[in-house]
Amino acid sequence: MNIILLGPPGAGKGTQARILVDGRGMTQLSTGDMLREAKDSGTEMGKVVADVMARGELVTDEIVIGLIREKLEGGGTGFIFDGFPRTLAQADALGDLLAEVGQTLDHVVAMEVNDDELVTRITARATCGMCGEVYNDITKPIPADGTCTNCGASSFKRRADDNEESLRTRLMEYYKKTSPLIGYYHAKGQLRWVPGLGDIDEVAGGIAAVLDS
Ligand code: AMP
Repeated sequence: MNIILLGPPGAGKGTQARILVDGRGMTQLSTGDMLREAKDSGTEMGKVVADVMARGELVTDEIVIGLIREKLEGGGTGFIFDGFPRTLAQADALGDLLAEVGQTLDHVVAMEVNDDELVTRITARATCGMCGEVYNDITKPIPADGTCTNCGASSFKRRADDNEESLRTRLMEYYKKTSPLIGYYHAKGQLRWVPGLGDIDEVAGGIAAVLDS
């Protein structure tokens, strides 16, 4: 089964993707993570995208489609597309790429959240520097002993683009370029809404219900 997690920045896509990876052995394909890796390792592409990402704008379709193509051509199934597609051109490309490798898209899970909540969530979030476990100062604080519950590491990162200014741009990019995908997948009969405002386990339960339906 291959699915897309669709929702604005801060909706909890990454957190829910990790739950699906742990619980169902699925594979998370986060274009944001791939781009951050490219940036941190200083590749040519990483240098090109660094400023764009810091401003909260979208990088070109060509770059992200190339990243996803590479992963899909590498084989496997059970993919969770997290943060991809983000434009109609990317959605078309994903359909073509899946067809090329003989796979289908089974569900598009749209996470329903409200914008006020997003600002609070994003400015409060942190991840483990070692394993990427997601924390949030309000809903899931870093343990008092300062170690990651998942891997025991003690260094945590906050994203450079998790500030109010770039968040405003990221939200605008979402509404202008990504939210049309809701209509696109609705028209294809693939869209499933899940309430994204509850606690992490409740949201996970909603997603599980869709996947098991
Ligand atoms: P994310 O981790 O999904 O919030 O993505 C972080 C940043 O990476 C975004 O604000 C964009 O600059 C870039 N990015 C990630 N995925 C895509 C995509 N599918 N298309 C364009 N830009 C992307």
